[in-house]
Parts: sequence; structure tokens; C-alpha cells
Amino acid sequence: MEISVLIVEDEIAIVTLLRYNLEREGFRVFSTGDGEEAIGMVKDYKPDIIVLDWMLPSMSGIDICKQLRWNQDTKGIPIIMLSARGEESDRIKGLDAGADDYLVKPFRTGELTARIRLALRKVQQDENNPIGEFGDLTIDYAARTVKKNSVAIKLTATEYTLLVLMSKNEGTVLTHHYV
Ligand code: CA
Repeated sequence: MEISVLIVEDEIAIVTLLRYNLEREGFRVFSTGDGEEAIGMVKDYKPDIIVLDWMLPSMSGIDICKQLRWNQDTKGIPIIMLSARGEESDRIKGLDAGADDYLVKPFRTGELTARIRLALRKVQQDENNPIGEFGDLTIDYAARTVKKNSVAIKLTATEYTLLVLMSKNEGTVLTHHYV
């Protein structure tokens, strides 16, 4: 099955490079450089994954990310955020907005392709095994919800991301590098 990627990036050189490499890897690629148009394209094309630049005209990648996460139809689509901002606080802001992964510019296209495959594998795993149970905690990966003793608990996007990371790496020490 052909996997579709939506690239949301206003730097033409980056789009051209990514499109060339992703198409060569067999992905179907759509792109836009405009934030508001991106929201419409996600709804129209239902991409399997979104590569989203932070700095965009008309709407920031952060706002797009939040908007997609609020919408029932788009909340499950993995998002890899691109940014020239490499500070830990920026990564946290990206993850807080609901991004699944965060890649600092400049990056190698091979690195992005690897992260895309990883994010898609996670989605596949979640679909095959949508509920994780850890003691009194229940994580519904597909719905992105957490219950403690059957009572829903509210987590920020970062808290949720960290909990999922830990739940999938039981017994492994995770460094702050993951955030
Ligand atoms: Ca940009």
C-alpha cells in the first residue's frame, strides 16, 4: 500500500529535496507552504503522516499541530515537527502541541525517512495493540487517553508522550534526549 506524506514547509529547497527523496523511497508526497491550506489538505487527503515545519506564513506549525490534535478525524495522524530551534524548551513546546517527533534543522533526509518509518510503525503497533495495561493505569494508544483505576485522568501532551514512551520501554532507562 502506498504511504502518503504531507510536507508542510515554505522553504522550496527543502520541499524539493524531501519530495525527491521520499518519492524515491516509494512514498506519495503532497506539499504546501501555507499553514491554513495545510489544515484543509489534511482533511481532504488524509495523509498517513505529516512533516510539519514550525515557522510558516499565516499559521505556525505549533498552532496547526494543536488544531489537528483537537479534531477527532485528524488526532491520530503522526506529526514530525521540523524546526531550526534546537533548545530543549522548544522540543517540549513541540511535543506539548502534540507532535510525535521533533527534528532539528539542518538534518539529513535519511534521518527524516527513518523517523517517518518509526512513527508509522508505532501507529501500526497501536492499531494492533491499542490498549496498554500497567498496574492500575490503562493507556488507550488509539484514542490517546489514560485511565487510572478506570477513571480518566487528564495529562498534558508532553506528559502523555512521556508516559507512552516509558510504557513502551519498560525496564529501560530513558534519557532526557528523548524529549
Ligand atoms: Ca519555514
